[in-house]
Amino acid sequence: MIRPIRIYGDPVLHQRAAEVVEFDQKLKDLVSDMFDTMDKAPGVGLAAPQIGVGLRVFVYSYPDDDGNPRRGVIINPSLSHSPLPRGELDEELESEGCLSFPGERFSLHRGETVVVEGVDLDQKPVRIEADGWFARIFQHEFDHLNGIVYVDKLDFDSRSQAFEAMAKLGWNKPGVSWMPGVDNLED
Ligand code: ZN
Repeated sequence: MIRPIRIYGDPVLHQRAAEVVEFDQKLKDLVSDMFDTMDKAPGVGLAAPQIGVGLRVFVYSYPDDDGNPRRGVIINPSLSHSPLPRGELDEELESEGCLSFPGERFSLHRGETVVVEGVDLDQKPVRIEADGWFARIFQHEFDHLNGIVYVDKLDFDSRSQAFEAMAKLGWNKPGVSWMPGVDNLED
């Protein structure tokens, strides 16, 4: 089932999500809805708070360079990343988007490599090492679980642009969302 995606300003996006303790049918349904919603959006990752659920869960779907699928769910993740690069931002290679800030892109530095660990729906350990854009996705989704949307991390100029855009769009307040497949938005 596709669920509406919350937009920046909704409180659930700006608070730390809670650890999952119940691995029950409800959690399975949540994850299934997250995959449906991410695919329809379409997006390469989605965190539970983005559909209004304050739990430490995210899904991802990002094929490797040969087109092989890399897709899964990580519950109660921990993440470590290599140091952030310094210096000028590359507007092309470091430009990021977010389904909770649709239609806009801004660039920011991310670590080149990450290690993510957590569990899957069967509580089996998951460990993923990633680099490049795949590593960026994990850093982005992990931030969501800590109440951080990537625009919160932008430099002053980009952040100002983002807030100007939100003022025009009527965002940055509780209760705004969009529906993949219904509302014609992307990113
Ligand atoms: Zn996002």
